[in-house]
Amino acid sequence: MLSYRNGWQALHYSRTWDVVIVGAGITGLHAAVFLKQSHPHLQLLVLDQHFWGASATTQNAGFLCLGSPGELLNDLRHHGEHVVLKNLSLRWRGAKRLLKGLGAKKSGYKQTGGFEGFTAYQLNHYEDILKNVAQLNIIMKRITGMEDFYSPTEPKKLPLPANHQFNAAFYIKFEGQLNPALLWENLKLKALNLGVVFQNGARVNAVEATSIGYQLHNNGPTPSIKTKKVLLATNAETDSLTGGSAILPGRGQIILTKPISGFPLKSNFHAEDGYLYFRNVGERLLLGGGRHWDFEGENTATIATNERIIQRLKAYAEDFIVGAPVEIDHQWSGIMGFTTDKQPIIKEHQPGWFVVAGLNGMGMAMGAELGRMAADRLYEKKKS
Ligand SMILES: Cc1cc2nc3c(=O)[nH]c(=O)nc-3n(C[C@H](O)[C@H](O)[C@H](O)COP(=O)(O)OP(=O)(O)OC[C@H]3O[C@@H](n4cnc5c(N)ncnc54)[C@H](O)[C@@H]3O)c2cc1C
Repeated sequence: MLSYRNGWQALHYSRTWDVVIVGAGITGLHAAVFLKQSHPHLQLLVLDQHFWGASATTQNAGFLCLGSPGELLNDLRHHGEHVVLKNLSLRWRGAKRLLKGLGAKKSGYKQTGGFEGFTAYQLNHYEDILKNVAQLNIIMKRITGMEDFYSPTEPKKLPLPANHQFNAAFYIKFEGQLNPALLWENLKLKALNLGVVFQNGARVNAVEATSIGYQLHNNGPTPSIKTKKVLLATNAETDSLTGGSAILPGRGQIILTKPISGFPLKSNFHAEDGYLYFRNVGERLLLGGGRHWDFEGENTATIATNERIIQRLKAYAEDFIVGAPVEIDHQWSGIMGFTTDKQPIIKEHQPGWFVVAGLNGMGMAMGAELGRMAADRLYEKKKS
């Protein structure tokens, strides 16, 4: 006999679901919304281990972007044009799908443009990008249709405090700011309104094949959940369920300062090859990243503070961005899922068991599109 902690939940959740989605981040929630929109009759349950939200979706910096010129050039050199075009297309389609589906207001979106900045010790890198910017702009035009996607801009024109230490910069034409908590809340509400059922505080420990589909063993109030199909949208933690080794967890740290009177920044900023990123939140500075300062410590799926990185982020804010002491008001971390070829995974792992994961730190742009693609994989669209 199965032991349920609550008899009502036993009666309610012990039905056989058509689909269970594990992971209530931007990807899993979009998959749920698209499935319910195209197949309203489906009995669909979304499970997540966390009560408060998602490992990355509610913890991120809220950049809706296609990447900085430095990131693009690095990716071209390390992964080749084919991968770059595929990822850019996913990001572009995902960003448009998010803004069309949930809408700018409900995701707290503002189109702000962005910058990539270079301090004195990175000027060689700036020169290298400058030599290649025409090629980068051709690629970006193929994806977005926009001319001059990246353009050099004078450091003294940067919307930063006068004491900033950036000696060169590019302007990025399409880029905007999201409010990840608002986005997540509204996306979940949209799924609930479509009839998706949620169970939080349920960590799935094993997926077992049965004659009708799968049984999901978990530590939630209903320890064994039966379903015909399952979708893992579990990003960094996927390998523990599939038994694979395709996705490496990588933690990111974030600090949010107290308001800085007259803080002029109203857009996004990338630095140090994308390992640092900052933006304003009202008059506060949000600065995140710093994995390159402690790769070993940050290759983990444990949500926790890395004090060494937090202190370096604070010092970077004071020395390079603000030019004055800052006070940290909040700090937190989140977990990304990385693949070696920098491409997300979307596949049928076993018949009826699907996986969409490994968003490589680009999920706010890609998530909606990958969720849509996963939904289509679960119930193939009939060709009309
Ligand atoms: C610090 C930080 C800053 C970032 N900044 C940006 C940014 O500015 N722009 C951008 O585009 N991207 C950014 N990202 C990346 C982006 O947040 C992610 O790519 C995206 O949120 C991934 O969404 P997801 O739904 O695939 O995964 P997640 O949001 O990680 O959701 C996966 C969910 O699965 C659940 N789960 C996992 N395993 C189990 C299990 N066994 N049982 C039950 N539940 C499980 C987790 O609890 C989690 O809620 C950032 C990430 C971090 C950490």
